[in-house]
Amino acid sequence: MALTTKLAGIAAGAVLAASAAIAQTYPERQITLVVPFAAGGPTDTVGRLIAERMSADLGQQVIVENVGGAGGTLGAGNVASAEADGYTVLLHHIGMATSATLYRNLAYSTTEAFEYIGLVTEVPMTIVARKDFEPADFASFITYVKENADTITMANAGIGAASHLCGMLFMQAIEAPIVTVPYKGTGPAMTELLGGQIDIMCDQTTNTSEQIKGGTIKAYAVTSPARLEIFPDLPTVSEGGFAGMEVSVWHGLYAPKGTPPEVVERLSASLQTALADPGIAEKLAELGTAPSPAADATPAALKAKLEAEIERWKPVIETAGVYAD
Ligand code: ASP
Repeated sequence: MALTTKLAGIAAGAVLAASAAIAQTYPERQITLVVPFAAGGPTDTVGRLIAERMSADLGQQVIVENVGGAGGTLGAGNVASAEADGYTVLLHHIGMATSATLYRNLAYSTTEAFEYIGLVTEVPMTIVARKDFEPADFASFITYVKENADTITMANAGIGAASHLCGMLFMQAIEAPIVTVPYKGTGPAMTELLGGQIDIMCDQTTNTSEQIKGGTIKAYAVTSPARLEIFPDLPTVSEGGFAGMEVSVWHGLYAPKGTPPEVVERLSASLQTALADPGIAEKLAELGTAPSPAADATPAALKAKLEAEIERWKPVIETAGVYAD
């Protein structure tokens, strides 16, 4: 056997032995869960919910770190280049799929840079506006926005965010461009919507439902195929004639590529434990959604979802012709 082949064999053996050792003792210290958007927003809300329950299950703290910016690609990039030891994980959503097409010079490969842990939840979006926005219902909202497209401002969390995708679908539907204002997350955008500094936004119910219930913002439609139990009076976008705007914000948990398989399995099992917790299901139900079923909180299900969604949104983005670069 050539010396180089022998050495490669020895090195591979050493890596395997090291990963088996890590897996036996994992986790020995706190884990960082990167949320690629600002604190106080919908991804952050989901992140903090699962982090708390996973901490209890893993016997180590899972600490949320908010790395907002560039529509989620900054935080995802940080995790892609982090140590693959199971102590850094990423919670991202549908933006993981759309950014693969929106960013033609992404610093990491969406499908090659991560290990998949599992799907977390699918969250519907709502089209909302500041409290004193004039239109009374979805039909008049469409007419009003079309007529005033050049003066209306729409918030999003940057190119690649779910709010960006929804806004893009909205503009395609009404065939009019609207001025968009990017934030590091829709948590801060909600503050500005409440303050009346911004007019409209499309965002997950995990950020908007409390405000809608409290009457501090106006809601016009939901992007789910059916009406939501928590808002039975709110029409779906399809009822308004905009089936193309149906979108569901699926969330997934990832680790850097090369994270030992035993560690990924442990994290996936912990995610499943968290999602099976009735307290989490109850909280998500209040926010208009539900945890992913155990069969989906798996590496294989997340991989399949991501790959399918990259293909699904690619032609939509290419039609819009708007890229991040
Ligand atoms: N909801 C945001 C989005 O547009 C992200 C966030 O702030 O969590 O994707």
